[in-house]
Amino acid sequence: METDCNFGTKLLHGKAVSAYGDRAILPPVHQVSAFRYESMEALERVFAHKNPGYAYTRIGNPTLSSFEGRINELEGGSGAISCSSGMAAISSALLAVCESGDEIIAGSGLYGGTVDLLHDLEKLGIHTVFAEKLDAAAVNTLTTDRTKVVFGEFVSNPSLEVLNISEISEAAHAKGIPLFVDATTVTPYLARPLSLGADVVIHSTSKYINGGGNSIGGVIVDGGKFAWNISVHTALRGYERYGKMALLIRLRTDLWENMGACMAPMNAYLSSIGLDTLAIRMERICSNADRLAHALAGIEGISVNYLTLPDHPCHAKAKTYFDGRGGGILTFRAGTKERAFSVINKLRYALIASNIGDIRTLVIHPASTLYRKLDSKTREAAGVYEDTVRVSVGIEDVEDLIADFRAAIEGAGR
Ligand SMILES: *Cc1c(COP(=O)(O)O)cnc(C)c1O
Repeated sequence: METDCNFGTKLLHGKAVSAYGDRAILPPVHQVSAFRYESMEALERVFAHKNPGYAYTRIGNPTLSSFEGRINELEGGSGAISCSSGMAAISSALLAVCESGDEIIAGSGLYGGTVDLLHDLEKLGIHTVFAEKLDAAAVNTLTTDRTKVVFGEFVSNPSLEVLNISEISEAAHAKGIPLFVDATTVTPYLARPLSLGADVVIHSTSKYINGGGNSIGGVIVDGGKFAWNISVHTALRGYERYGKMALLIRLRTDLWENMGACMAPMNAYLSSIGLDTLAIRMERICSNADRLAHALAGIEGISVNYLTLPDHPCHAKAKTYFDGRGGGILTFRAGTKERAFSVINKLRYALIASNIGDIRTLVIHPASTLYRKLDSKTREAAGVYEDTVRVSVGIEDVEDLIADFRAAIEGAGR
């Protein structure tokens, strides 16, 4: 049971790994819907949360608990809940703290699905105020007596803006509001938002955590440090007695369970074995992305957006937070939509696919796909222009990737 080792070792030898049942090296897959009990009294005690135990997979399952335990340990949380998707994790977490009449302060440049969700929530009476730039000043000016949560992406996909978590959480806490951070593109390999002051971390595990592109999933990790004031966070009414665990308990025993947002056990298994190699994949992905970004930045007529490029506005912040690494996403502007399409169509190795975090390099034209529902002003706030190409860099040999992108860009003409 290693607790004080480095990240890559912890991935393979952490407490939650040592706790796999039956001396198994990989997490056993409990591919079942229900669990049987020796007496009705025993099952009654489980339902009443008087005895630990599993009853029904939508409510809990050992394979899910094992995966949750691993992510929780890596993020330094006090509890985690796995979800059917990243969007299920985001919607569950926000609905657990907001009710009709409440407000959310969100960053701009968010993942398209999240922006869509926040628009959906308007119909439930939950209003989102989008900060042009999410920082402490924005939190101070935009907070009202109805604000219940500040939500942002640690590194936004695909605009690549880096949140100043310490500063934003301090401002939010001074107003009695928690900070929820979507850290999908960062992963616990690059940084741990809870240690910087965030209250809740959310991941789409479909991306880097799974890594192999074989299952959709999400996870909510609660830092367990936020002191809920139920007269402010009325959505948590009834959970006062759980103190700092009120959010996690409400999700676990009520909202998440009743919305049916559980992860499938097989997906938890696949994501757990993907997680085993997170460190080595991220190391290779970050180094490939850094080299590809520098190579593309030297080509005339192409403007590249990547965190380790010296002219990136968040370059310094990324250096502090991520130890000089820039993650796996880069974007470039090709001049026109037609030229962007032409470059994408000419690539040999990069697959045209709507995903990130795969071991294979993936490319997409975000404006015509992920952001098609948003108007151009909202899109551009998210770093998506008509000519933007998004690249999720994989683990191929970088010389091949550089040659492939060079040839495609040159072949696409002016
Ligand atoms: C993909 C993604 C999501 C949504 O996750 P799903 O697993 O596709 O539901 C949320 N946030 C970010 C930053 C993402 O990249």
